[in-house]
Amino acid sequence: MRVKNLELNVALIAHDKMKDQMVNFCYAYQHILRNYGLYTTGTTGKRIEEGTVLSVHKLASGPLGGDQQIGAMIVTEDIDLVIFLRDPLTPQPHETDIQALIRLCDVHYVPIATNLASAEIFVRALDNGDLDWRKLRKKHS
Ligand code: PGA
Repeated sequence: MRVKNLELNVALIAHDKMKDQMVNFCYAYQHILRNYGLYTTGTTGKRIEEGTVLSVHKLASGPLGGDQQIGAMIVTEDIDLVIFLRDPLTPQPHETDIQALIRLCDVHYVPIATNLASAEIFVRALDNGDLDWRKLRKKHS
């Protein structure tokens, strides 16, 4: 049986047209994701809980500040991986918040996947222990 790895937290965000993809992704990888602390924007989290066995911590909806809340958690080193299924073809009212979130990932060396192909690689890396170094970093900070 897998030991829960709740020392590491994953943020899950999906724009409206990508929400089905996010639910399918979480369903396919729920055996891995359930071992981590999961933080989501509001509607994404609701959809994930409806479509999988996962429980998540739901923040505000993205356009209402949820991306910024996740950004604040990145600053305090409370998020270790971001899966952000962005819709690259639809303008978003909160584009500035999205850019700020991506920027903060770069500032704080947090891996971020912005499409399904990279999300799958990252979630497998998580399962392999490739991000466990982040736990050591937390202990020493
Ligand atoms: P939502 O937010 O999960 O509340 O829809 C996502 C976003 O649009 O950033």
